[in-house]
Amino acid sequence: MPKPKNAMEIFQLLNKSNCRECGRKTCLAFAGAVFMSQKRLDECPKLDKATIERFSGKAENQNTIEQNRDEYLEKLKNDIANIDLAIAAKRIGARFSDNKLTLKVLGKAFGVDTKGKLFADIHINPWVAIPFFNYIIDGRGLPVSGRWVSFRGLKGGKERYPLFQKRCEEPMKRVADTYPDLFDDLVHIFGGKQVEKQFESDISVVLHVLPRVPMMVCYWLPEESLESSLNLFFDESADKNLAIGSIFTLGAGLTQMFEKLALRHGFPEVVSSQNPFS
Ligand code: SF4
Repeated sequence: MPKPKNAMEIFQLLNKSNCRECGRKTCLAFAGAVFMSQKRLDECPKLDKATIERFSGKAENQNTIEQNRDEYLEKLKNDIANIDLAIAAKRIGARFSDNKLTLKVLGKAFGVDTKGKLFADIHINPWVAIPFFNYIIDGRGLPVSGRWVSFRGLKGGKERYPLFQKRCEEPMKRVADTYPDLFDDLVHIFGGKQVEKQFESDISVVLHVLPRVPMMVCYWLPEESLESSLNLFFDESADKNLAIGSIFTLGAGLTQMFEKLALRHGFPEVVSSQNPFS
């Protein structure tokens, strides 16, 4: 069964009447929502059954990814219930009180109790919850060095870098190219801080995704014959405080959050051609 590769491919299946019967203002918005699994194709009453069945592969694939993710999350919750959270809090510099460990994720309080139950001031994105748990379980709590390196420069990053580019840097660049408010959102919604331009970039924003795992987004605007570009940088201590697999998940999870935000504001063209975790 073919899978739609992007929101525009889904849009091509629709009758483009913008009738709103699916609950979205336009067919384009509906296409974006289907691609991000917020809507199902069969919620458009104008589509025939054969088309819905032909293109249901995406949903099945998405279900498998989500099931694997949820199982892994459950395992991590059990692991958390089996460690001494007070000691873990000391190790990573988090707060521990009322049987709960709390730290800041993207500037907002994020906590877990001794049974593995999560508490947060923000919506709990599972792709952020996984690195949060790993940070508590395995993080060494080393101080931030202030020296930035690319994902490639982290231990185990070189081999994963081609995939990291594909799942994180390239789709995030598409968002930055198309959605003009991205960098304002990074500052105002995600608690980022615009810093002095680094590596001769035009914009540099530091996000404190986890307290000792800051991430810097650097963006270069297009210039005459040169395309724009975007790179992510991490503190050189990042791989001691979080395993490289979790740093990857964090980058891809954030990218997905930014894409969703842009979609919500009517920019379906930013959506990457594949689910970042497939
Ligand atoms: S119900 Fe279908 S045709 Fe109508 S706006 Fe939604 S997607 Fe478009």
